[in-house]
Amino acid sequence: MVSERMRGLGSARSVIRELFEYGKQRAAVVGEENVFDFSLGNPSVPPPAAINEQAIRLLREQPEVIHAYTSAQGDAGARTRFADSLNRRFGTAYTGDDLYLTVGAAAALCCVFGALTCPGDEFIALAPYFPEYKVFVEGAGARLKVVPPETEHFQIDFDALESLIDEHTKGIIVNSPNNPSGVVYSRETLKRLAAVLTARSEAYGHPIYLISDEPYREIVYQGFEVPWVPSLYRDTLVCYSFSKSLSLPGERLGYVLVPPDVTDAGDVYAAVAGAGRSLGYVNAPSLFQQVTSLCCDLTADLSVYARNRDLLVTSLREMGYHVAEPGGAFYLFPRSLEPDDLAFSERAKQFDLLLVPGSGFGAPGHVRIAYCVQTEMIRRALPRFRALAESYR
Ligand code: PLP
Repeated sequence: MVSERMRGLGSARSVIRELFEYGKQRAAVVGEENVFDFSLGNPSVPPPAAINEQAIRLLREQPEVIHAYTSAQGDAGARTRFADSLNRRFGTAYTGDDLYLTVGAAAALCCVFGALTCPGDEFIALAPYFPEYKVFVEGAGARLKVVPPETEHFQIDFDALESLIDEHTKGIIVNSPNNPSGVVYSRETLKRLAAVLTARSEAYGHPIYLISDEPYREIVYQGFEVPWVPSLYRDTLVCYSFSKSLSLPGERLGYVLVPPDVTDAGDVYAAVAGAGRSLGYVNAPSLFQQVTSLCCDLTADLSVYARNRDLLVTSLREMGYHVAEPGGAFYLFPRSLEPDDLAFSERAKQFDLLLVPGSGFGAPGHVRIAYCVQTEMIRRALPRFRALAESYR
């Protein structure tokens, strides 16, 4: 006998993974250059040179300590450097003691859900949303409720949100810039959300935490602003990652920030650490605690994503696709040209375009295009997108 839940999670078919495998098989037949794989969110630009330089220096200079355990919450020096960087950027006064370093944003989220969940608690995600939220929330023993998408601009459908919040709501997950829509929530949207959460927290006599999942915080395009969420809503917990901003997804480094003015901040921080302990994380990778904290004011060269975005948005709109304005991240989420996004994704395969159906993100009728690819591949893919559109005329 094994756990049904875990067996199910371990053997479930992943649409993205299947597309990726299909792409490899197809490449063997038609050639790699003729398959246009937009399925994976793996950064395509290298990390800044300073990352490797620091890693090599540390390996040379500190061979005895750099591979050792660190304190569970992360090395004090590294945490201080992260806090100082946030303070320089956002005018805050955090200390290293407000940060708990994690194995990427995924672990940060798991620690937060584990920390907050009491029997009967629920969390709310806003579609379109990162599908792993359901796995993480349920893994913590809570229930995930989903607000249907506002499909014109992918901001928030507040009527739908208000109808889902009740006394069981422990937290709302916000992901901006968003995977899969690329949309950035405006300051007005976030202020309105803060007002709703403040009113409901008061009505129910307990805080509703805002969990701000921010792996794409640094990937934001001209004319858009990613507001610092804790400055708009006090009970915000930030889950961050260096996977995308520094192009280090395999190195697994992120953090939870528990700002000191959050309700019961000391207890929340202790519970985050307790959740990390119970999940067996021990500590975030030691070498990359140092490397990322020494490079945390840098980013990879994000200009490639801006170029890709402009090229795709302009071209797809000109071909007749409906695309909500993406302010950040490296995803586009156009409407599928038929209501069934799975059928549309299948049709796209006939043109060797690999696009992820939106249903898995809670937003049927759309597909996700991950444009963290070479610009030149996008140029070559444009005639395929045109032919796909024409096949519906
Ligand atoms: N949250 C969102 C919205 C993501 O897109 C991802 C990864 O793609 C994660 C969290 C997990 O990121 P990490 O690699 O830091 O675990």
